[in-house]
Amino acid sequence: MDKYEILKKYFGYDAFRDAQETLIDHILAGQDTLGIMPTGAGKSLCYQIPALMLDGITLVISPLISLMKDQVGSLNQAGIHAAYLNSSLTTGQYFKALAFAREGRYPIIYVAPERLLTEEFLDFALNSRIAMVAVDEAHCVSQWGQDFRPSYLKITEFIGRLKKRPIVSAFTATATKEVRDDIIDILMLQDPMVMSTGFDRANLYFGVMSVRDRYGAVRSYLETHRGESGIIYCLTRKHVEDLCARLIKDGFPVTRYHAGLSDAERRKNQDDFIYDRSPLIVATSAFGMGIDKSNVRFVLHYGMPKNIESYYQEAGRAGRDGEPAECILYYSGQDVITNQLFIAHNQDNQELDAAARALVMERDRDRLRKMTFYCFTNECLRDYILKYFGEYGSNYCGNCSNCLTQFEETDVTEIARALIGCVESSRQRYGTTVIVDTVHGANTAKIQNYRMNENPHYGALKEVPVYRIRQVLNYLQIQEYLAVTTDEYAIVKLTAKSGDALKEGPIVMKLAKEAKRPPKEASKEGKNKRSQPGRESFTEKEDSLFEKLRTVRTELAKREKVPPYIVFSDRTLTHMCIVKPTTKEEMLNVSGVGEFKYNKYGESFLACVKEEMGVTVHG
Ligand code: ADP
Ligand code: MG
Ligand code: ZN
Repeated sequence: MDKYEILKKYFGYDAFRDAQETLIDHILAGQDTLGIMPTGAGKSLCYQIPALMLDGITLVISPLISLMKDQVGSLNQAGIHAAYLNSSLTTGQYFKALAFAREGRYPIIYVAPERLLTEEFLDFALNSRIAMVAVDEAHCVSQWGQDFRPSYLKITEFIGRLKKRPIVSAFTATATKEVRDDIIDILMLQDPMVMSTGFDRANLYFGVMSVRDRYGAVRSYLETHRGESGIIYCLTRKHVEDLCARLIKDGFPVTRYHAGLSDAERRKNQDDFIYDRSPLIVATSAFGMGIDKSNVRFVLHYGMPKNIESYYQEAGRAGRDGEPAECILYYSGQDVITNQLFIAHNQDNQELDAAARALVMERDRDRLRKMTFYCFTNECLRDYILKYFGEYGSNYCGNCSNCLTQFEETDVTEIARALIGCVESSRQRYGTTVIVDTVHGANTAKIQNYRMNENPHYGALKEVPVYRIRQVLNYLQIQEYLAVTTDEYAIVKLTAKSGDALKEGPIVMKLAKEAKRPPKEASKEGKNKRSQPGRESFTEKEDSLFEKLRTVRTELAKREKVPPYIVFSDRTLTHMCIVKPTTKEEMLNVSGVGEFKYNKYGESFLACVKEEMGVTVHG
């Protein structure tokens, strides 16, 4: 079978995505490869398809048990023999799997890196033909990344022990220059073909909302997204507890996850989420490593994370199936303070000396500042993120809350001058709150203590609402007319540009015309960019068909004891609603329906389509 036939027969897809085919061709030609593709781009197929074509066994190295389980489950569902070897197996199971492997039953074997150099495993590997070693999540070899795994360093030694060097391929979604070099050096890739498709995830909608009633906003979002699966990230365990309890009281199918729960509860809650028994989960950042759930339709942040890296990683858990998904950050000023406390009390770097710790802290504060700017920028959010990672996007993506908001140019010169004047005349000694309160003319104890009520700019902006003054203050920082120190005091300082603002004019800022549009509507426009029509253009009948198909999927998944998205992805169900297949041939045309899966599930879904579309079945 050639690669196209395999793609169709086992995976049910008609065409390769951008980088997939190139990577596969180079692997098949015997070359080492490094694929850097964003989450959901389809890295697995890049080694799974060659694995079925190469003469010999492909070993896939993966860092987490849950990832291996998920992938092997998917392969088995597609009719491909695959197994995993890791610590979740009992000794008996492990030896049985190894025995099958020796017999050559599995073209693909997932193995935990810490197993590679064990006696039993080496004995198997040395007596088998290993065609390829595929290293998934390859950034784990690098100390630069956030997910360094010492056991990944064993991979090279393992490869060196083999009699014939196999093809080595590596895949990751996160590779800065340092990490990429590390992967090539540490894994000793030989003349590798490096393919990088960039960080952008076009199917994700990005939004920022600064709302007074955060809970109300989240609740109304969930109400308009009933039945969909989503993650809601909180900054603290306490927030997780509170939010989860409130949502349960309001009748949402939600569970929770944070590091303070027992292992057993965490495992159970995570499974409830993955199997869609609780399609919603409220969690701290402890949740998500190793979650490959493809039908997560939204990731909400009930609070701003500590940096863009974390935000993009967490938000990126939405829409792995390539279907439209939404990532919305609900910002509140308190989040900055919470994060500053985290940074000040960070215990991760105990072994560093004082100077090094100060440096780390400084860097963390800087990253927090850039995260905060994300919440205030009026530019394209996607562009902001891509620039942060050193990529250039277009200035307009059409699929983020800023690109979809109508802005008007507003002259803020007067506000800017009052703020800068106030900082200057009080000799750059005070934090943002004191400055804002002064120009607004507040009468607080602090203002009196510092005698800011005698400042020449006191009350100069009495008529301007505080939120607008803050907006302008943030804007002045982004434009570097003012700077705020990154320590916990957040002192406002002048910059080299401050003088210009006082002399030259006018200072113009883009301000939103209308407060907000409902995200559902907002995302629609962005979704129009997609080539394939999606669920947003469904008729009522198709909507109802989708729900019915989802129910069929849930039942089959229960019977098979696999997560629903492994039976068929949301994308496949969506496509099924558009094609409305009533015969086997038509069903096989649906993206994601391969022959093996058709034989297993096809009839059930066909029956459902026919019934819903009112097709009478003869004889
Ligand atoms: P990654 O590891 O890059 O995050 P996965 O390998 O898990 O991504 O794939 C993400 C999703 O995309 C899966 O549901 C997969 O079946 C699907 N997919 C992969 N390749 C294709 C393709 N050529 N056409 C359609 N869907 C694809
Ligand atoms: Mg992957
Ligand atoms: Zn945009």
